Amino acid sequence: MPFIDANDNLIPEELKTDICIIGAGAAGITLARNLKTVKDIILVESGNFEMSGASQSLYKGKNLALKYYDLLKCRLRYMGGTTNHWGGYCRSNDPIDYEGRAELGLPKWPISKDELTPYINLAKTELDLKYDFFENTELLKDKKISKEQLLENHHPDFQTKVFQITKKRRFREIYKHELQKQTNLQVLLNLNAIHIQLNEQGDNVKEIIFKTIKGKKILIKAKKFILSCHAIENARLLLKSNDVAKTGIGNTYDHLGRYFMEHIYLKASKLIPSDSFPKLYDFKELRDSKLNANLSFSDNYTRENQLLQYYCRFYPVYVEDKEKDSLRNIKRNINEPYKYELYNDIKNLVNNFNDVKNFLISQFGFYNPAPKYYQLDHRIEQAPNPDSRIILSNDKDLFGMPLADIQWKLTDHDYRSFKLGQAKIVKELSAMGAGRFELEELTPDLIRERIKGHYHHIGTTRMSNLEEDGVVDKNCKVHNVNNLYVAGSSTFPTAGYSGPTMMIIAMSIRLANHLSNDFLYGPKK
Ligand SMILES: Cc1cc2nc3c(=O)[nH]c(=O)nc-3n(C[C@H](O)[C@H](O)[C@H](O)COP(=O)(O)OP(=O)(O)OC[C@H]3O[C@@H](n4cnc5c(N)ncnc54)[C@H](O)[C@@H]3O)c2cc1C
Repeated sequence: MPFIDANDNLIPEELKTDICIIGAGAAGITLARNLKTVKDIILVESGNFEMSGASQSLYKGKNLALKYYDLLKCRLRYMGGTTNHWGGYCRSNDPIDYEGRAELGLPKWPISKDELTPYINLAKTELDLKYDFFENTELLKDKKISKEQLLENHHPDFQTKVFQITKKRRFREIYKHELQKQTNLQVLLNLNAIHIQLNEQGDNVKEIIFKTIKGKKILIKAKKFILSCHAIENARLLLKSNDVAKTGIGNTYDHLGRYFMEHIYLKASKLIPSDSFPKLYDFKELRDSKLNANLSFSDNYTRENQLLQYYCRFYPVYVEDKEKDSLRNIKRNINEPYKYELYNDIKNLVNNFNDVKNFLISQFGFYNPAPKYYQLDHRIEQAPNPDSRIILSNDKDLFGMPLADIQWKLTDHDYRSFKLGQAKIVKELSAMGAGRFELEELTPDLIRERIKGHYHHIGTTRMSNLEEDGVVDKNCKVHNVNNLYVAGSSTFPTAGYSGPTMMIIAMSIRLANHLSNDFLYGPKK
């Protein structure tokens, strides 16, 4: 069916359907495409096919704790959602991610690795990824990288973790025609969910209230509803819909909006490499193969040392910022020879000729010359923290709905894992003669000052077996609400360190499968 602008006068003010999916990003589009056996689906999307300022403004919000990205810009509110930005880095969760480690506050996943593996394989196929994630030898064989080059074969505490980079990134373009042809599906554009209306008992969604920015109101009644509006917005809608359930839907035990996690990283310390530095771990080494190899620790080492998952990237540095500035200035001023600064910049480049030459060679991708040094880039999974959370703001959006502010906070486990992760890398690489380190101490102050996220929003509607421990059950259904489901990384109990999107796709295919079976055979007892 064609995409429909919800402002169209032919669209009635009340609609009925079997399944209503809210949000057409990675999760929502995957769900719609995989629910082909359900008779009637409506996929509702806040935006249109291009970004609009008015729709994007609904994502405003403040950062209340650690410095974070501008919430207005770090997710996208139009068809395809944040897949219009994503970088395509994929990796599936590691076995250790599912097991739960109480000493670090990491809950066990209600779904096992074996249960998810078939869906991860489907997601992998969906994204045209060729290799298994855990068999590095197989993965690297095509690139003529020998086992010898992997550090796990030299030290049992290491493990190489490889990301694959998909070319299938912009879901809005990739799936447009397929969605259009899907006869059981209507896609309503320019329509925003603003309130989830429960029945009086609070155990069923009666309808969801939607509005267009032009002011049209539409009610949708469905047998089942799925929220796939991305992590912060999923929590905002559930928290805000508090007329029947006074603290928000699915929030009897005060977990809703909590455990906001990112994949955090920070750059600190340098390694001046020797000839023994294992070149495979140079961040640029595998870029032509759409892969990158990261140096991490074995599950055993991670468990025994009570570490969060940690890995290190080695960023080659050829020139300092000053030389980069000179290159930029020369480009800008080349037609203005009377400018004195031009000659200063030329002098600076001539004085650092070799470094500049290597930098330019590396930029053009002919080959990777030896860098001056490697900048260490430390990355960890963030421990779930109830105080790291989404809070409804006193400020309102243009529908009068409270905006979502974010209070991003770390725990001592995060600080400790950064510190011990660096110490272990330095110890073992020094023992191997890989080079000389110039170290910075990873104090909590330095960490707070430098950390960044990857725009990966995780947690806020965590999955749990018991209602006491989370917001949704193992099938992503909100505990104690019969017909309301949540899709996306908001349901992940732990963040792991893999990019979330491939896991979002895997879990969305699983949810679509579960709901298709429900419609065909009735709910499983
Ligand atoms: C710069 C950048 C780089 C990234 N790189 C990577 C990467 O390399 N690897 C990786 O794994 N991940 C990456 N990500 C994260 C990735 O984009 C997200 O994980 C993914 O898009 C989330 O999918 P989603 O469906 O949950 O949300 P989205 O894709 O954001 O989709 C949510 C949809 O819901 C709609 N919506 C929201 N609220 C409402 C409402 N109230 N009513 C109706 N519709 C609504 C939105 O308009 C949007 O279309 C990156 C993100 C950014 C910003």
